[in-house]
Amino acid sequence: MELNVLAAGILRILAEAALVILAYSIVIRNFPTGWKKSAAVGTLFAFGAVLSMHDPIRITPGVIFDARTAFLAISYSYGGLIGTIIAALLIAFYRLWLGGVGVVPGLISIMILCCVSYAMTRIPVRKIPVGFRRSVITGLAGSLSLITIFLLPPEIFATIIGTPLIAIILANIINVVIIVDFLEREKSRLRILRALEHEASVDPLTKLQNRRAFDKAASRAVNDSRAKPTRCSLIMIDIDHFKMINDRLGHYTGDTVLAEVAAIIQKNVRLDDVVVRYGGEEILLLLTDTPQDAAKTLAERVRSEIERTDFATGTESINVTVSAGIASLGEKYASMEALLKAADKALYHAKMSGRNRVEVA
Ligand code: GH3
Ligand code: MG
Ligand code: MG
Repeated sequence: MELNVLAAGILRILAEAALVILAYSIVIRNFPTGWKKSAAVGTLFAFGAVLSMHDPIRITPGVIFDARTAFLAISYSYGGLIGTIIAALLIAFYRLWLGGVGVVPGLISIMILCCVSYAMTRIPVRKIPVGFRRSVITGLAGSLSLITIFLLPPEIFATIIGTPLIAIILANIINVVIIVDFLEREKSRLRILRALEHEASVDPLTKLQNRRAFDKAASRAVNDSRAKPTRCSLIMIDIDHFKMINDRLGHYTGDTVLAEVAAIIQKNVRLDDVVVRYGGEEILLLLTDTPQDAAKTLAERVRSEIERTDFATGTESINVTVSAGIASLGEKYASMEALLKAADKALYHAKMSGRNRVEVA
């Protein structure tokens, strides 16, 4: 076979693989982990394999090459057990449907590839990191499935032995190297994107969410409350006489106190609740599915824990108090804007009534 035919064939396979990688990017964005991700990855890899089996590289008459080895050999690493089973079954069905003398060797090679795929995951990444060397080994190991050519009729077997066999093994290696490289680039692009998204929504001092995150959570909460009769409550917390702490002990100590107050609040809420640094030393709690009474109990618990805490400031330990205003979504306050205004007003009352207290709107 001409080398340029092989090169053109590999390029075609890679173009098909590019489609799979594009879809892979969408899959891992929507299902970062779990069985759904595994199933989707398995289906995608099978799709890539079937696409190239449909239009394979014809190495010599009767000898074909396609991307199934590459996709199956890496299926366990990217799709786990579920992904591998799904990919193997779909590819096996397609191979059965194609028929011909190569059916039995084809099916056996699929089973061998599943084992190779699993075996590759047993080699620790810290020993052989994901990259060129690991991909070459995977491509070589995947080529073990070629052992099934011994089951082919002698005349076909004879046409494979020699240069075509070397060409197939080389093509397997090139395929794995390039597909894995694409997939890893996509994974790291998404990792960076997630880190940036996280940084864009988190306040660096308190590690609480910021206003942008609050706006998103708030519109979600208002929509939810329209769809089902759940109650959502808002608690606005403000540190009492915080300016005095700054003035007396310095801005750095003020920062430490603020971060510690935030941590106390955060550890008192559920995972679904959204805690936001709303202003300088103002913290907002958006509590999903929480009636006013429960919000008040929580605010009291937080207030009293902060009051009892000794805040270490280096030279001395100080006591800090907070005031809180509460409002709940319902007939009285139907929009987030109204809720914010009501909570702010209740907070103002708490301040006016002597601070270190909780008021309900
Ligand atoms: P009140 O009890 O009425 O709330 O009194 P206050 O002194 O806490 O209220 P005020 O709003 O006048 O002061 C808030 C202060 O919080 C002023 C500002 O310098 C300080 N502050 C805001 N953000 C930060 C921050 O990130 N770090 C520090 N150290 N101080 C901050
Ligand atoms: Mg204050
Ligand atoms: Mg304030």
